[in-house]
Amino acid sequence: MRVVLRALALVFAVAVSATAQNAVPMQSKPLDPANLDRSVPACTDFYQFANGGWIKSHPVPPAYSVWGSFAELSENNQSNLLTILRNAAASGDSQASADLRKLAVYYSSCMDSASAERAGSQPIAPELARIAAIRNRAQLEAEVARLHSKGVPALFGFGAQQDAKNSTEVIAGVRQGGLSLPDRDYYLNPDKRYADIRANYTDHVARMFQLLGESAPQATTDAQKVLAIETALARPAKTRVELRDPNANYHRMTTAELAQLTPGFNWPSFFSGEGRSDISTVNVQNPVFLKAVDSLLSSTSLDDWKAYLRWKIVDGAAGSLSSAFVNEDFRFASTLSGAKEMLPREKRCARATDAGLRDALGQAYVAKYFSPQAKQRALEMVRNLESVFHDRLRTLGWMSDTTKAQAVTKLAAFTNKIGYPDKWRDYSTLTIKPGPFLNNQIAVREYERHRDLARIGQPVDRTEWGMTPPTVNAYYNPSMNEIVFPAGIMQPPFFDPNADDAVNYGGMGAVIGHEMTHGFDDQGAQFDAQGNLRNWWSASDLEKFKRGTGLVASQFDTYTVLDSLHVNGKLTLGENLADLGGLSIAYAALEKALAEKGRPPLIDGFTPEQRFFLAWAQIWRQNITPEAQRVRINTDPHSPGQWRTNGPLSNMPQFAAAFGCKPGDPMVRPDSLRPVIW
Ligand SMILES: [Zn+2]
Repeated sequence: MRVVLRALALVFAVAVSATAQNAVPMQSKPLDPANLDRSVPACTDFYQFANGGWIKSHPVPPAYSVWGSFAELSENNQSNLLTILRNAAASGDSQASADLRKLAVYYSSCMDSASAERAGSQPIAPELARIAAIRNRAQLEAEVARLHSKGVPALFGFGAQQDAKNSTEVIAGVRQGGLSLPDRDYYLNPDKRYADIRANYTDHVARMFQLLGESAPQATTDAQKVLAIETALARPAKTRVELRDPNANYHRMTTAELAQLTPGFNWPSFFSGEGRSDISTVNVQNPVFLKAVDSLLSSTSLDDWKAYLRWKIVDGAAGSLSSAFVNEDFRFASTLSGAKEMLPREKRCARATDAGLRDALGQAYVAKYFSPQAKQRALEMVRNLESVFHDRLRTLGWMSDTTKAQAVTKLAAFTNKIGYPDKWRDYSTLTIKPGPFLNNQIAVREYERHRDLARIGQPVDRTEWGMTPPTVNAYYNPSMNEIVFPAGIMQPPFFDPNADDAVNYGGMGAVIGHEMTHGFDDQGAQFDAQGNLRNWWSASDLEKFKRGTGLVASQFDTYTVLDSLHVNGKLTLGENLADLGGLSIAYAALEKALAEKGRPPLIDGFTPEQRFFLAWAQIWRQNITPEAQRVRINTDPHSPGQWRTNGPLSNMPQFAAAFGCKPGDPMVRPDSLRPVIW
């Protein structure tokens, strides 16, 4: 629904998969010694030393694919959302605010399983009838535009975006898309494991077609058509590593140039179908892909396209239809996630409401669960870290003074967003009604779509947020040059007002440092203080920077999970740089605080420095299903928790000093391989 044309640099993969049964009480001690595994020396495998006890006693719950600090806190936040939603739904208070009443109706319609059963596939029937009536390419393209407006991104992605090279301007952007499996590799990799997934997928698509009333042979034929079209879209798609190069994704053009690129596609009609016939400028992320779409539209039969569109509709709606659709949707999803059972309906509905009526629920959430004091403390921490980062930038040994001055300017221009947006969405034009939930979801998607496309040609709205307030995550947005921390993450184990400084700097402090460093990672470093894609580096500094980042990429290439799956050093480079930089900055901030306030006594036998590193390890503890691990290695720019812990720490002399590690220990990388960047 939300169209983000440029990936935001998060601290964690967005989807924490499914959600579990019961709220998990937060541990009472900021660092619980029972979570350790003292049979493994800290200098051999710090992740295991710090988390082994926890890992053993916290298997992945059946409705989840991953379980760890992020999932535990998300679960806690979700039960708070449920409290708000249940109260709103139960009260039926006609005096409640309009937003609260919309929340109540939205959530209740999601919970209304009886209506969903009665309706079956009826909520998508009008759209299916429109597809059946398509007679020519013009009607096909018109239907694609229509589906986009209903939040079904068939064929490619389209939406508003800040111009990468002129960040004050919002233009239209077209990006590659149209796939249903997690990545292009799932269509193209000849390995048996992927061939098996494709066979499962085709079977799944066929079962869905049967649920829509097709005969078994027809459904199988149509499913093969879908796979053929999506495979043809996967081929010209760039890899995730290629998508990390912002210059290679910048192709701003006029609509006349766009027409030259794809002569068969009627863009004026598409734009008018989207309600923006006035669009004059577009960024095309991947021109090769778009050309391929244009010729595919001519070379593939209308019948095949109709099968593809039918699939995109039912796939996007299945989770909100009757149980036959919901169950088949889950059955296939679980082959990729490894989750054993479905979430209870109320948790699925809490998530759907958070994703849909994001600001209405977010506003109610922060009013009840986020204090002005918490916001104040987080802001203080951000300022401490900025000041430490600033000092470090000024004293960096490897960078020339001219580049340093630019880096300092960029840091000083950061916008900090903490907790929740200053300006909430106005939902007065949105109508939410009792009845099939899908209709309400579509109403929200249309509202968001309209809101997104209305931004084109308008001044950039700097109050926008890319995450909802209860989210356990954070991000840096290069075009805005901003760091953003939702209220949801500012709680234990990330931030605990009752914990010692060491734990808070190793948790939230390092997360803040991580987001700040994204402004200076392999991608962020290409954007200037105003958020423009513009080189501000001297040639020799850039070369030194690339030498350092190259060391990190090769380091992570050597790491494996599930015995043989390799971490992709280039895909995870930005995140790994952010972890290393963030830890270095947060560690320096802790040392500064200790120098100012004096050293506290040992806690559970650990020094503040040791507790700093234990806190970092604690936020990355996780158990994950093999299925989910495989998807993440292929698609997630974040390394697995084990390597987010051991990777950066083995590069830090501060870590070796804190635990008395010696050269040659696995947690001590040789000096020659150790990058010193930020
Ligand atoms: Zn990140």
